[in-house]
Amino acid sequence: MRIDIISAVPELMSSSFGHSILKRAIANQLVEVNLINLRDYASNKQKQIDDYAFGGGAGMVLMIEPIDACLKDLKSQRTYDEIIYMSPDGELLNQKICNQLSMQKNIVILCGHYKGIDERVREHLITREISIGDYVLSGGEIAAAVLSDAVIRLLPGVLNDETSALSDSFQDNLLAPPVYTRPAEYQNWGIPPILLSGHSANIDKWRHEQSLERTKSRRPDLLK
Ligand code: SAH
Repeated sequence: MRIDIISAVPELMSSSFGHSILKRAIANQLVEVNLINLRDYASNKQKQIDDYAFGGGAGMVLMIEPIDACLKDLKSQRTYDEIIYMSPDGELLNQKICNQLSMQKNIVILCGHYKGIDERVREHLITREISIGDYVLSGGEIAAAVLSDAVIRLLPGVLNDETSALSDSFQDNLLAPPVYTRPAEYQNWGIPPILLSGHSANIDKWRHEQSLERTKSRRPDLLK
C-alpha cells in the first residue's frame, strides 16, 4: 500500500511514522508513506500556498492551484483509489472505514490548514472526506497521522501476531476484554484467576464474555 500525504506542514507528521510499529512497517516495505510539501507546488516565487478568504473574515485559506498541481503530478504517476480530505465535517472515522481503506493500493490524504481549503478542491478534486471527531484541530496533519496509523496496523504482517488486530476493539463490533501482565499480585490487587489456569478454551470464553459485558455497559450502540 502507498499513502501520499499532502500538507503545508509535513514536518508535523514525521515523528509519528518514525517510531515503533509504523517505522517497522515502512522499513519492511509493507507500506510506503510519502509526506509531500504543498509548498513544492506553489507557482510563484514567494511559494505562496494560501490567501485571504473572498468576502472577508479571519483566517487564511489554502489555494486550489498548488493542490491541483500536486494532485495532477501524483495522478500522472499512478492511479489512486481514494483522494481523501481530512475535515471536521467529513464522515466520522471508524474501524469499518479503516478496514476498507486497508484494502486499497494507493491513497492520497490531503490536510487542510488555517481556515481550511478552497471549497472547489472539495467539489472537484477529492473522492472522500473524513473527520476524526467532533472537534477542530489547527491542521489536518494529526488527523492524517491518526487515519494512517489506524489503517497501516491492519495491513498483513504489520503487527507481530497476525491475530492481534482482530482481537482489538471495534472488530466484530465488540470492545476488547481487559488485559493484565506481571506481577499477578500488586499491592493486594490480584487478577482474574482464570487467566492463570492455563485452560485456553476457558480463557477464550472468559475473554469473549468480558468483551460482551464491556460493550454492553460502555457502548451498547455497537451491539444493535
Ligand atoms: N474552518 C474549518 C476548520 C479548519 S481547521 C471548520 O470550521 O470546519 C484546519 C484544518 O484542520 C481543516 O482544513 C482540516 O483539514 C483539519 N481538521 C480540523 N479538525 C479536524 C477533524 N476533526 N478531523 C479531520 N480534520 C480536521
